[in-house]
Parts: sequence; structure tokens; C-alpha cells
Amino acid sequence: MTTRLTAVYPGSFDPITYGHLDIIKRACQLCDRIIVAILVNPNKSPLFSLDERLEQIRHATRHLPAVQVDSFSGLTVNYARMHNARILIRGLRAISDFEMELQMAHTNKTLAPEIETLFLTTSNEYSFLSSSVVKEIARFGGSIDHLVPPEVAIAVSQKFTPHPASCPSSPVL
Ligand code: ADP
Repeated sequence: MTTRLTAVYPGSFDPITYGHLDIIKRACQLCDRIIVAILVNPNKSPLFSLDERLEQIRHATRHLPAVQVDSFSGLTVNYARMHNARILIRGLRAISDFEMELQMAHTNKTLAPEIETLFLTTSNEYSFLSSSVVKEIARFGGSIDHLVPPEVAIAVSQKFTPHPASCPSSPVL
């Protein structure tokens, strides 16, 4: 009997970038099912709502049949257990990621020894790329077309486009 290997890739994905997508595609080569799971974190104020992010990720991964998209709150290991996932996928860009990621992996190991954290190192061309970088560039009017899928680029730019001043309505006489 073959066992299907399920992995959870948790994160904020605010928004999803080509760096995330690169990790997702590579994880698909290693596991049978990848659940990209947005962590709903009450301590963060994301640019995009949960529904917007779910839709963006679904659209960006629609050509990858092994990928499911979901959201959760609470402990990642509890979510992984609920879905019979034995693997947590995380991406590593630089030493600066390492300390936090290692601490998180060790903590998760104490909570759920049967679950392994699998680190995939960033591809060179995305080593500088984060959701924050994307938002920072867009905030100042720079192009992000090479960093995120086209529909995400439009959505991010719209968030930073000033709305036309609303026309004052005619005074009611
Ligand atoms: P979190 O708030 O959990 O860090 P993110 O959406 O920022 O959520 O990132 C989710 C995961 O994807 C993290 O493991 C992060 O290190 C990884 N990641 C983000 N951008 C890249 C990238 N350009 N290359 C590789 N991994 C990345």
C-alpha cells in the first residue's frame, strides 16, 4: 500500500509572490498533496483580506492539481494533524530567516514529534523577495510585475492608488 504524503505550507501570503510560488512548485515534486494554508493571525493587519488572499492563491496555483488552498487559526501542528500532514514546508531566504524558522521548527517538534519541518532554500532570483518588499515598492509607485502574478500586481497597485476625491454632494436645500 502506498501512503500519500501530505504537506502543509503555512504563511501569511499577503500577498503571494513568485518566491512563494517557486517553493510551492518545488514542494509538488516532493509530496503528493500540498495544502497552502493562510494563518489567520489576529496580531497582524494584512493588506489583503483573508478572502482576497485565498482567491489570489487559488488563481495562482490553479494549474497545480496537487495544491489545495485553505486557512486556519491556532497552532500549525494541530492544523497539520487534522489533515494527516506529516510535513510542514517553510522557505529559507537568508540567515535572517534562519533563527526564527529554526526556533519555530524546534517548538513544533516538541508539540508534534511525528511532524517534520522541511526547509526549501529560495531560488537565487527570489532570495530578496518578500510580501513586504512587494508592498513597499508598490507604495512608491514602482513596478512589481516581475515579483507577483499579474492579477496580484493589479490588486496590489489598486490598494495603493489614491481614490479620486469624492465629489461633494449637492447641498440639500
Ligand atoms: P510568514 O508570516 O509565516 O513568514 P510569509 O507569507 O511571509 O509568512 O512566508 C511564508 C513562508 O514562505 C516562510 O517560510 C517564508 O520564509 C517563505 N518565503 C517567503 N518568500 C520567500 C522567497 N522569496 N523564497 C523562499 N521562501 C520564501
